[in-house]
Amino acid sequence: MEAMTLTRPIDAATAWAAVKRRDRAFDGRFVTGVLTTRIYCRPSCAARHPARENVRFFVSGAEARAEGLRPCKRCLPDDVARDARAVELVIDAIRSAEEQPRLAELAALAGYSPSHFQRVFTRATGLSPAAYARALREERARNAMSAGSSVTDAIYDAGYSGPSRFYDAMEGRLGMTPSAWVNGGKGVTISWTVAETSLGPILVAATDKGVCRLSFNEGEEALRARFPQAELVEGGKDFASLARRVVEVVERPGTGGDDIPLDVKGTAFQERIWQELRRIPPGETRSYAELAAAAGKPKAVRAAGSANGANNVAVLIPCHRVVRSDGAVGGYAYGTEIKRELLDREAKAAAKAE
Ligand SMILES: [Zn+2]
Repeated sequence: MEAMTLTRPIDAATAWAAVKRRDRAFDGRFVTGVLTTRIYCRPSCAARHPARENVRFFVSGAEARAEGLRPCKRCLPDDVARDARAVELVIDAIRSAEEQPRLAELAALAGYSPSHFQRVFTRATGLSPAAYARALREERARNAMSAGSSVTDAIYDAGYSGPSRFYDAMEGRLGMTPSAWVNGGKGVTISWTVAETSLGPILVAATDKGVCRLSFNEGEEALRARFPQAELVEGGKDFASLARRVVEVVERPGTGGDDIPLDVKGTAFQERIWQELRRIPPGETRSYAELAAAAGKPKAVRAAGSANGANNVAVLIPCHRVVRSDGAVGGYAYGTEIKRELLDREAKAAAKAE
């Protein structure tokens, strides 16, 4: 909920743009006062938009009330902080529960009615509490399977009541069948090398279809953990030229490499996010909210963040171009130093190209 705790003032044009796209990342940063109705709303309020000339922005509900405005009954703008705390609390409860908690229990924990809590949770995460719990179980099962435990163990460990439930839930969701995941790349040959770059050593790994892993400060062991059954071949003649091209792109990010083939698998949503990442022009950045919107799911901000984090191919799928909504550089799997350097290089290359 980082976006909800920000207090930096924002200009009216940015505020109005956030209102127009009902960007919930801005909830809590200001309220929209409507001078004709004397009501104020959170930026994401679902009510029809007022005319711009009737709008005045306030940094808080208290300021709006001081001007004689009343809070909107629909979006409850004064509850932003309370909602954020409630959602955090419930996410913790879902993560630590053995069995999936019922909506009524979760709502009681948050101190809301079930229907109101369902709306609050969905607005914050893009998923209902039940869908969130389901996504979490899938993620855990996939992690357990790629770490090499047996299908059945992984399924029970992840909180499913049995394998058939898991396959029901997973059908059509994975690029590979569950057994291929368990087999950790069985029958697949992966060529790899660790190349030196000015940003540090980088693991380059590829199947005959394309690059399957590109990661800083990793070696054969990390690759083996991801693809325990694959045949790993170090170097190789045909592979050397591909690895050289990849390193060129890492040294000069944003200056080509779009034609380098990739071999990645994810859920439909993850793959969509990865495609959207590749559409961000070099030298530019996006927030998670913008990324989710670009993928056609403006409310799935948190899921967009997870998909970004699940990216296996650094730089070529430029997850480093996603920054925090307040403009701060934000986290990166390989450290913020590398991220900042990649963004700097892209910004310079883009400036030179103009
Ligand atoms: Zn409202």
